[in-house]
Amino acid sequence: MAVPFRRTSKTKKRMRRTHLKKTEPGMITCPNCGASLKPHRVCTKCGYYKNKEVIATMNDAKEEE
Ligand SMILES: [Zn+2]
Repeated sequence: MAVPFRRTSKTKKRMRRTHLKKTEPGMITCPNCGASLKPHRVCTKCGYYKNKEVIATMNDAKEEE
């Protein structure tokens, strides 16, 4: 197995890693409540997706009682 001839310096290592970054995920705002969320997902705050309520949220359950 090939072995590195020299230890990689701190500078070289850091220069290489400048290209390794986390990318920000695409976020949208909920049209119903305005919370920021990932696209193509049900809003966790109000339970809406495509302008319809698809899941009952904790707040709604309390109001019904
Ligand atoms: Zn929402």
